[in-house]
Formats: sequence, structure tokens, C-alpha cells
Amino acid sequence: MPQLSDRKANFKSLKLLFLSTPVGPLGTGLGGGVELTLQNMAQELMRRDHQVQIVAPAGSKLAGLPIAQIAGNLQSSAQTQGRDAPIVLPANSVLGNMWEYAYQQQDQYDVLINFAYDWLPFYLTPFFAKPIAHLVSMGSLTEAMDTVIAQTLDRFPGTIGVHSRAQADTFAFGNRCRILSNGLDLSLYQFQPEPANYLGWVGRIAPEKGVEDAIVAAHQCQIPLKIWGAMPNPDYWQQICQTDADFSYGGFLPTDQLQAELRSCRGLLMTPKWIEAFGNVAIEALACGVPVISYRRGGPAEIVQHGKTGWLVEPDSIEGLVEAIERLDEIDRHTCRQQAESQYSMQAMGDRVEAWIRDMLVVI
Ligand code: UDP
Repeated sequence: MPQLSDRKANFKSLKLLFLSTPVGPLGTGLGGGVELTLQNMAQELMRRDHQVQIVAPAGSKLAGLPIAQIAGNLQSSAQTQGRDAPIVLPANSVLGNMWEYAYQQQDQYDVLINFAYDWLPFYLTPFFAKPIAHLVSMGSLTEAMDTVIAQTLDRFPGTIGVHSRAQADTFAFGNRCRILSNGLDLSLYQFQPEPANYLGWVGRIAPEKGVEDAIVAAHQCQIPLKIWGAMPNPDYWQQICQTDADFSYGGFLPTDQLQAELRSCRGLLMTPKWIEAFGNVAIEALACGVPVISYRRGGPAEIVQHGKTGWLVEPDSIEGLVEAIERLDEIDRHTCRQQAESQYSMQAMGDRVEAWIRDMLVVI
């Protein structure tokens, strides 16, 4: 490990290696919110004169950012496993290959930042010479992950970042996690004062996201629903389509096109069946001036200001969603944009992330 004095002296301009999620190439949406989070953190830290190199599965695309493309088989996503699920790695694992690359290249960097919700990077942490910060992107899902994160935290205090209090509280060690929230390049999201008459739903089309509830609620209100997002599981989507409700699917769109559609929504519906760690789509909607209606559960319940920038609804209550949709006009769209500007700018996120890394380097 480098001497503390060296690290402090170098803090003004750190060399950072970002290790992406191994569930899909960047730009496909398979990595969920991690993709946008990684992109925004890289951009903001580079703007602050840090150097950032990204390591990600082959086929990754992020305009203007340097990516080391790593071949190998993708990791299956962790959301659908039971609590006792074992650790599984495919042959020629892209996760293993990415961390092999990191091991070989670590001397060129001051800090490695892990964005993968996977056992291997935590397990490997003590074997690396360089410090590793872990940005944990989901709440507690398996015993194996909880154990390895706790062990990492015991040995390297301050190195575990999360996005929300609710996410942290799913872990027994939640009070020792650093809460970083998130942020956006607000210049990419255009404020839209006058909505069109449709509702939006944005996210991975996966069971833990509960799009079916949004479809039923919008149907009851007789307002068309537009859905956008990556579709990792087409069978699940086929089941959803067995309804005569009025909704449309617009595919997975890049940020500029997504916001151009999203900004005209009367409201964004969020219907998570799990404890959503954060919910990037909530702050993207607010940035466009779109009120957010969400179940009072997980990250969105910390983002939405009930009655000011949206409505929080009893979890899993269609009736609650319907009542909230009927009250959307009470929300001032300017207030939504203002909340995004004050809490979720790149500047605000960069301050939080930089302070986390600085504190971590002093403690470990
Ligand atoms: N997203 C996108 N295009 C789409 C739909 C979604 O880029 O058409 C992105 C969206 O910007 C967000 C991510 O998908 O960053 C979903 O992240 P979120 O944190 O809401 O949920 P997660 O998938 O991580 O559970």
C-alpha cells in the first residue's frame, strides 16, 4: 500500500480505475441504474481533474469515456436468487477477467472503485495492494453477499458506499455504510412545463420492478401508459401483455431520447416490489419537471417529497396509485425540477463521492 502521505499529496488528482458490472456491456441497459451512475461519476470526477479509466464487458459504449473492453461470459443478475443462493461464476467469467485486468494494472492507479454487486471483488479486496472502494447498488439479497461485504467493512472501514438509507438498513451493518445518493447532468434533461396526457413507467422490465401494477392503475384511470426500459426476460413481458389495458412499450432508449419522451409525462409511476436501492429514474423524471408517484418503499420514498414533488403510496396498493394519479395536477412541476437541481446535480454528487474517497483514504 502507498504511504498515507503520498496518497494525501496525490489527492488533488487521483488516478481511478472503475470496474463496471459484469451483467452486461455498458449502454445495453442490462446493468440497470449502475450504467448511468458509473457514467456520471466518471464524467464528474474527470471534470474535477481526476483521471478515470473504466473496465467493462466487451461491447460497452459510453461516449467520450475511456473503456478497457474485457471479453468473457456475463454474470447472471443477482435479483432473482434466494437468500441461500451459492456463489456462481461461469467458465471464462468476464467478472474474473475484469478483476484479473485490475490486478495486473493496479500499480497505475490510486484507488479502484467497484460497481459490481458480486462476491468476487469483495473477496479479492485484501489481496490487492491498492485500496478498493465498493459502491453497492442493491440492498441485501443473499447471505453470501452480506457476509463478504461485512468482512470487507470490518477490515477496511469506510470503503462501502450505498445510495440510500433504506438500502443501507437492509444490511445488519447499514449504519457503517456511506450514503451517497446520486446525481445527474441536469443540462441533458429539459424542463417541460406542460405535459401531454399520458403516464410513464421507466426501468428494467423485471419482476422486482412491478410494471404490472402501473399498467392496472393507469388503465383504471383511463390514461395511456408509456413504458421504456431494457427487457432481460421476454417471458415475463409476454405474461404482462396478456391484458386489454392501454399501454405501449417504447424500447430501451439512450438518455437524450428517453428524456425527450419522459418529460411530457403527466407523472412517472414507480411500483417496486423490492427495496429499490435508489431509483435513478425518479430523479430523471424530477429533472424534467415530472412528478413521481411511488410506493412508499426503498430509495424512491427518500427522494419523492410527498405532496410537493409527487405522491408516496402504500406499497402494493393499486387503489393508492389511482388516488395519487387523480391528484397529479396538485404538484407544481417547477418544484420537481428545483428539487433535482438542489439535491441531484453532478456537482452535489461529485462533492459526496469525492468526500467519501478522501475520508476512505485517511481511514484505511
Ligand atoms: N434507462 C435508460 N433508457 C430507458 C430506460 C431506462 O437509459 O429506456 C436507464 C435509466 O436512465 C436508469 C436505469 O435505466 O439509469 C434504471 O435504473 P434504476 O436506478 O431506476 O433501476 P435499476 O435498474 O438499477 O434497479
